[in-house]
Amino acid sequence: MTAATADATGRSSVSESERPIRRPQLVAPAGSLAALRMALQHGADAVYLGLRDATNARNFGGLNFSEDDIRKGVAEAHARGAEVLFAINTFAQMGQVERWHHAVDAAAGLGADAVIMADAGLIAYAARRHPSLRIHLSVQGSATHADAIELMRQQFGIRRVVLPRVLSVPQIARLARQTDVELEVFGFGSLCVMAEGRCLLSSYATGDSPNNKGVCSPAHAVRWDERDGTMDARLSGILIDSYAPGEPAGYPTLCKGRFTVEGERGYVLEEPTSLNAVSLLPSLIDMGIAAIKIEGRQRSPRYVADVVGVLRAAIDDACRDPRRFVPRQEWQATLGRHAEGDQVTQGAYDRPWR
Ligand code: SF4
Repeated sequence: MTAATADATGRSSVSESERPIRRPQLVAPAGSLAALRMALQHGADAVYLGLRDATNARNFGGLNFSEDDIRKGVAEAHARGAEVLFAINTFAQMGQVERWHHAVDAAAGLGADAVIMADAGLIAYAARRHPSLRIHLSVQGSATHADAIELMRQQFGIRRVVLPRVLSVPQIARLARQTDVELEVFGFGSLCVMAEGRCLLSSYATGDSPNNKGVCSPAHAVRWDERDGTMDARLSGILIDSYAPGEPAGYPTLCKGRFTVEGERGYVLEEPTSLNAVSLLPSLIDMGIAAIKIEGRQRSPRYVADVVGVLRAAIDDACRDPRRFVPRQEWQATLGRHAEGDQVTQGAYDRPWR
């Protein structure tokens, strides 16, 4: 027998003890075929990937897929019962929209299970040209409330939304009660301070931003200079950071640069850190989150293998017995090793000051 109650929105719900557990899909980053294979071997339910061009918000040199590689990746994923989500998550540029249309047509033609998109005009194109193609609203679409999500569902039939990393756990729980669109949230990976999809910081230094070129520090603008063992990182000639001999160096972005202000040198905007939501898995599972995403298509196949392995084990444990779930020490140690700046946070999920 099910104990039915009504929540604050008036929708009926079943008691916590009797609600069936919905296992969230584990969505892993694939910046290369090697990373895709690691993700599949270590238990990903889906991988996300993109082309080697500005249609892809991880448009880093030496990464990403040709159409031939995507064909192979789709075949290998499907052979293991996994899905391929095709990211076309930048915003089309005036006069170049055909490039983005071509990416959407390629996703449909290559057998991708869904496209991850942010630009409303491109989403309309995908919905019109490929009505059976699943559309996921990218985190770059910045949909943080039910009205925005419902509008996209009504207009374009989006099936899932990747939530921006600015919402707290109670806010996500409220959203989960307010919409039937599937919710995907980040479980692990690098954080940055932008309101997702809205950062133009790098445009001031390079002319390029994540939204139009898919990368916030384009490789052509990055320069590394070594002098007396110190490594300087510059973006379009602007000194972003200096690393002492032996100090690990991150990819230089303006937001995570160390600058001197009022005589003190330090991280002025943001310290490098990674989101780690493993301890929140029981809450996320309880609210019916459809997918847990790992950030990091720019990271190595080793990162993908390790982080997918941990998240696979953690999601399985949390689904088996959510009330007794405790993150294992070895998981946290592995995730800590792959964290930016060697430190982790729960970011906006947990806001102790509110
Ligand atoms: S400049 Fe920083 S805040 Fe902006 S998109 Fe790049 S990493 Fe994120």
